[in-house]
Amino acid sequence: MSGNGDYRGRHYTTWVDDVKALRRAGDEDEAEQLLLSLLDAVEAESKKERLPPPGWYYQQLAIIAAKQKDPDREVGVLERYVAAAKKRADPDLLERLRKARAKVDSASVAAEPAVCPYCEEPLSPPPTRSRKCPACRVPIVVRKRAGVTQLLTTSEAEDLEQSEQQQKAYNASLRRANELGASDDEFARMVATHGRHGDALWELCNRELLNSDGYRRKMIYRIQSDHMVDEGRDWMTSAQLGVQEELGFIDLPGDSLVAIGGCRCEVCSATPERVQLQEIRSGNVIPHPDCQNPPCKCWIHVPPETRDVANLAFDAGAPKRKGLLRRIFGGQLKRPWSTSRPTGLERPLAGQRDVHDGAPRPNGNARRSGVQRSLMLGT
Ligand SMILES: [Zn+2]
Ligand SMILES: [Zn+2]
Ligand SMILES: [Zn+2]
Repeated sequence: MSGNGDYRGRHYTTWVDDVKALRRAGDEDEAEQLLLSLLDAVEAESKKERLPPPGWYYQQLAIIAAKQKDPDREVGVLERYVAAAKKRADPDLLERLRKARAKVDSASVAAEPAVCPYCEEPLSPPPTRSRKCPACRVPIVVRKRAGVTQLLTTSEAEDLEQSEQQQKAYNASLRRANELGASDDEFARMVATHGRHGDALWELCNRELLNSDGYRRKMIYRIQSDHMVDEGRDWMTSAQLGVQEELGFIDLPGDSLVAIGGCRCEVCSATPERVQLQEIRSGNVIPHPDCQNPPCKCWIHVPPETRDVANLAFDAGAPKRKGLLRRIFGGQLKRPWSTSRPTGLERPLAGQRDVHDGAPRPNGNARRSGVQRSLMLGT
């Protein structure tokens, strides 16, 4: 294997459609064989380029194993992925690995014969819902997890419920730690030091905040506010810090009109369609403290008409930058319009490309105004 990512003379990425076609045709075994051959090419390239391997190939193998009810094989391929990706494993696949391991654990429980948890009398057939043991007459609690039936005493059931809730909270923190680049083991070590997973996560966030740029800091503040919501604590401070980071990317005058997007809850969507940037800077617009789906994840959207004004500022201030923008966007540089134009409050939001009233245009070549043109060129 040369490390150029080829399998049978073609780069592994060009085999994706072949894999999909095999799977669509129900040829799971063939698909699996092909995927396993591709993994060698994937890993050889990943090693050479010092980049984490793309998770898709492993994920497909994991799905095939899961469909064939083979959790051991599923765990195997996901562990292979984690070994290859090292610290940069995809959090989704790490979570999938945890769930697959849980399936392996419960499968071993299922292999044991069903007995009463009190008197150990064999129960055949095993009860499917909670009822009294026919032998000792004590109530047995039946719990189903991952397709496996467990027979428990009432206090075991309570303990299980509690530990499952704790596990769920731990997994939420772990997933966030994964997003920040910490592996499962690293996070476990941090929890051992800090006692609580929430404290470990908080510490990790603070450490990462020091080493991150604005975009990543915004992501970290989002993780912090999600975590605070889960803990039933005040999430506003973290969410506000996230908005401040976002404002740092937007280099526009205070009276520029921007839109608010993100949360569609009743409270958040009551914000006017266009808001002056300075109002957001003063902290009075977002995050919405009464968001019905906290933490409020509303973000700032710079609509095309405001971007036009921004280009105008670019044009006036930095002719070199204009040349750069033209190189990046080709001929699509938007034509700035006069600043005396209406503010945009009465115009549709970005994304609604056609600014007409919906009636078909008789003449497709009808000249469009600068506003229409810029909306059409806009995102
Ligand atoms: Zn019994
Ligand atoms: Zn909101
Ligand atoms: Zn909301």
